[in-house]
Amino acid sequence: MIVVMQQGATEEQIDAVIERMVDAGFDVHRSTGMVHTVLGGVGGGDDLDLAIFEVLEGVKEALRIGAPYKLASRGFRPGGTVVEVGGIAIGGERVVVMAGPGSVENREQIERSAEVVARGGAAILRGGAFKQQGSPYGVPGTGEEGLRLLREAADRNGLLVVSEVLDVTQVALVAQYADILQVGARNMQNFTLLRELGKLRKPVLLKRGISATVEELLLSAEHILSGGNYDVILCERGIRTFETYTRHTMDISAIPVVKKLSHLPIVADPSNGTGRRDKVVPMARAAVAAGADGLLVEVHPDPDRALSDGAQSLRPEQFEELMRQLKMMAPAVGRRI
Ligand code: PEP
Ligand code: MN
Repeated sequence: MIVVMQQGATEEQIDAVIERMVDAGFDVHRSTGMVHTVLGGVGGGDDLDLAIFEVLEGVKEALRIGAPYKLASRGFRPGGTVVEVGGIAIGGERVVVMAGPGSVENREQIERSAEVVARGGAAILRGGAFKQQGSPYGVPGTGEEGLRLLREAADRNGLLVVSEVLDVTQVALVAQYADILQVGARNMQNFTLLRELGKLRKPVLLKRGISATVEELLLSAEHILSGGNYDVILCERGIRTFETYTRHTMDISAIPVVKKLSHLPIVADPSNGTGRRDKVVPMARAAVAAGADGLLVEVHPDPDRALSDGAQSLRPEQFEELMRQLKMMAPAVGRRI
């Protein structure tokens, strides 16, 4: 359930409502907005009469949330969430571009990637040091050494770092080097990992599973939020359909759908979303037009020789051109790059 406080409700009134909610068996999460404070109650009885909250001083309304996710629902933070990290705001006016290679391969590769990313005007360097491979014979990843190289390359170019964490044993290590921890599509329902990330006080980029519905994505986000980590950024990265001309089907409609259902920012990954370099730029443009708060784009200094995901990685000049186009486009939809 959700209790929306009146505009100007006092701290004493808010505390009294929280106390009453706790008495009724709810775990209470508070969201202090510009106008209204919203109290999200998780747990508690289903048959409870909400009127007992509505009559308390300072309460505007009490609502039962029908969706299985509560803290991820738009009602919990009607104004939307802006995730602030290292001076960058994700979910605000700026469309935040996160770019870099699929995997961190070696110092030269990641340094060159970082230069291209920074020159294009992106804010965040991506790169997998731990890789989730569909095939057991795929490239294993560079591990901690890769994370170190990624961090150094980012720092030298004034960028932040996003990198994937595969399981609970890696959380502390990845958190030491990355500003944002990425949960891969194949891990969207790794609930033990999500719970662990809920304890962290660092942003999490949560990718939609390959066959996951939007509701399942939001339920996965709820696992992180319910641990008290409210800095969750969702990511549409393409889903499995019967279509074979692209590796996945980029579900652009998920962007406005999520915007309506949830307050969380959502970014789009047209690289994994299509699997093909020549489809990345048009899908990136479409995602921004549809309201994406950011993009996760793969770019490699020499994609034909990339150790992973070369086919979906942009060449440096293609990335530059993408950024040039986005800078012109974004103002048409009330955004900037
Ligand atoms: C990635 O972005 O590096 C990646 C592996 O993506 P996904 O989890 O979406 O397949
Ligand atoms: Mn990939």
